Amino acid sequence: MYYMSTRDLTARVTGAQAVARGISVEGGLFVPEALPALTPERLERLCGMRYTERAQELLSDFFPDFTAEEVRAGVTAAYASGRFADGGVAPLAKLSPDAYLLELWHGPTCAFKDLALQLLPHLLTLSARRAAGEKGIVVLAATSGDTGKAALEGFRDVPGVRIVVFYPAGGVSEIQRLQMATQEGGNVMVCGVHGNFDDTQTGVKRIFTDPQLQAALGAHGMMFSSANSINWGRLAPQIVYYVSAYCDLVGEEEIALGDILNVAVPTGNFGNILAAWYAKRMGLPLGKLICASNRNNVLTDFINTGVYDRRRELYLTSSPSMDILISSNLERLLFELHGRDAAAISALMRELGEKGAYDVGGAVREKLQAEFHGGFCGEEGTEAAIRDVFGRYSYLCDPHTAVAWSVYGEYVQKTGDRTKTLLVSTANPYKFAGGVLRALTGKEPRTDEFERLRSLEALTGEPVPQQIAELAGKPVRFAGTCGRDEMRAAVTGFLGIS
Ligand SMILES: *Cc1c(COP(=O)(O)O)cnc(C)c1O
Repeated sequence: MYYMSTRDLTARVTGAQAVARGISVEGGLFVPEALPALTPERLERLCGMRYTERAQELLSDFFPDFTAEEVRAGVTAAYASGRFADGGVAPLAKLSPDAYLLELWHGPTCAFKDLALQLLPHLLTLSARRAAGEKGIVVLAATSGDTGKAALEGFRDVPGVRIVVFYPAGGVSEIQRLQMATQEGGNVMVCGVHGNFDDTQTGVKRIFTDPQLQAALGAHGMMFSSANSINWGRLAPQIVYYVSAYCDLVGEEEIALGDILNVAVPTGNFGNILAAWYAKRMGLPLGKLICASNRNNVLTDFINTGVYDRRRELYLTSSPSMDILISSNLERLLFELHGRDAAAISALMRELGEKGAYDVGGAVREKLQAEFHGGFCGEEGTEAAIRDVFGRYSYLCDPHTAVAWSVYGEYVQKTGDRTKTLLVSTANPYKFAGGVLRALTGKEPRTDEFERLRSLEALTGEPVPQQIAELAGKPVRFAGTCGRDEMRAAVTGFLGIS
């Protein structure tokens, strides 16, 4: 299987090359030329497997340049070596007769990013050997909170790799900040940026495509790669958990093989929900893909009008991992909805860069609306959803998951569509203890973060995860911040090049 760029059909690379490069030279994203098929027979066979076996089989299709043994070793190291809690990699919780939560936060950093970022280092190390000779890899990541920690944890002390993470200073939760600032490992660097997530992501993309810097890196035997969801190596592992959740629901006789399942996803960079779309394209019986945004509702507007317009204020919300106005992965969907017209995608992305907006027109909008429902939920709605889920089901959910719950409820009310629905639960609530406490008590919580954790535990009886509790005793290693124009210098300083 080969991959092509959304902005240049002639840029044809292998899976290993797509992972090693992260992004195509002209700025496009790599997408598979053809998708593996999930026939009913194959799905039935997958239903009889464990998570690691499902992952191994599906990922082998996407990365035929790796041997079965290499994929097996990576998948085992990521998902079966005790990094995920005993309950499984991606367990389900049944909330109501129609609604299931897919809990993707049982990994080392308590957010769904672990599902991809525990595996990506293995894929990337293999890729670097295949595609990049003996070059050292410098992983760059911009994070709205969860990618950074998950990437740091995945790549720490991986030989031949160094990792730099930038986050918007003041734009992440206190637990998210502490998780990054206390990161251990001899190959890591973390820096806050004076700006919001879009500034941070734009800054990182600029460093990636800086030819002078690339040359300097090459001269030192290094190359850049990306841990953001623009990297196909992030998306492929995410397809696995949709297939796996479907199989688990069949196994538990909640649905029959072939039944349609809707999916609701709290969305920021459009990576998670795009993986569901790919799974559906491969043949997984998924119905409506419900795209849930917070107050930063640029995707809701896009799905409803066909106009993507980022010329608006970026709000800081209680679901900071979705505080994004430029959803990078949308480009992959647009590419497919435009019949793989790379010139059209280049033009749209140029318009987004220059004007800040684009309009896909009626035909594409109709295709979009046939598969996606877009909705959003503000801060009050998020708090109400946290209270609602806890009050009705004694289930403690984080603000991102709450956004999905709220939009799902609205969708059912508006459409009467009672199809069983998988809601993706993306983070452990203790990552956002302040917001969750405020929602449950109606009061402004104390300022000390660790007091908040204890209060929430006392109130709900849910235990604080070990990884979060132990942050209290860890020394802060990375307290520094820099301006948007200083990101490049922060990278060259860390790498010791100029
Ligand atoms: C990253 C993240 C999201 C958004 O996922 P995308 O793939 O960027 O759409 C939602 N919730 C949490 C907790 C996250 O960390």
